[in-house]
Amino acid sequence: MPTLPTLPPLREVIATHGLRASKALGQNFLLDEQLLDRIAAVPGPLAGERAFEVGPGPGGLTRALLRAGAQVTAVERDDRCLPALAELGSACPGKLRVIAEDALRIDPEAECGGPAHIVANLPYNVGTALLVGWLESEVWPPWWKSATLMFQAEVAERIVAKPGSDAYGRLAVLAQWRSDARIAMKVHRSAFTPPPKVMSAVVHIVPAEAPAGVDVKLLGRITAAAFGQRRKMLRQSLKGVPGALAALAQAGIDESRRAETLAVEDFVTLARLLGSADAD
Ligand code: SAM
Repeated sequence: MPTLPTLPPLREVIATHGLRASKALGQNFLLDEQLLDRIAAVPGPLAGERAFEVGPGPGGLTRALLRAGAQVTAVERDDRCLPALAELGSACPGKLRVIAEDALRIDPEAECGGPAHIVANLPYNVGTALLVGWLESEVWPPWWKSATLMFQAEVAERIVAKPGSDAYGRLAVLAQWRSDARIAMKVHRSAFTPPPKVMSAVVHIVPAEAPAGVDVKLLGRITAAAFGQRRKMLRQSLKGVPGALAALAQAGIDESRRAETLAVEDFVTLARLLGSADAD
């Protein structure tokens, strides 16, 4: 593991640069270097790999990624953090590039310059939108090799949920139809400064082979309709999706079932049938 030059403790960085945590920006900082190293280890060895981080803040996770030997591209929306990140960049010449922008407005593939591991303690207010954008990539395998992401525990449960559970819904289908998703570790709220109200968890997502002949937009449409009225039978919830009831019949799925009883593969089959009906 490459050692970094001696750096001031993160608490000192926060004090020196006046980085009082902003609620609006979802700022809950991680300061425990051992925990940060454990998170940076989730994707596997990073020496010589590209890493993409959203919201480096004072740079705790960024330091761990650099210690692991990654080439880091980080996007931070809070300009107050930039001087602290510039100091970290100077301590590791050529290893850290910081983009001062909203992560929702950049093209991470172009910014990283090649396949990268996404590793981030995500701001809670944009975390799901970012993940959905990464999962809905038209190109598969996508530009990201893996995603190691801190979420509120409840969101993490929705990403890895299995059929029949209350947490199972659009996010689970979207995350699991062509990726492997698991909870890598749970993180107690007291690990953050300031502590958030709820517990957190790190999710690890690795792109897998995509089932052939499925349009991600159609899959999104059918899961949105099915889970939009999750307590209703499919014959009711899918009524507004042209061709969906015929696809249910063709797939041999009883239309009196409810969305949460369908496996991820069932949604994939329905999207594939809808796609081929569109093409006719
Ligand atoms: N990585 C740091 C850590 O683990 O201590 C900070 C994590 S904090 C939960 C979230 C970070 O995301 C903050 O630094 C915040 O300023 C930044 N942020 C919030 N919204 C953002 C956005 N739309 N684009 C980029 N960064 C954002």
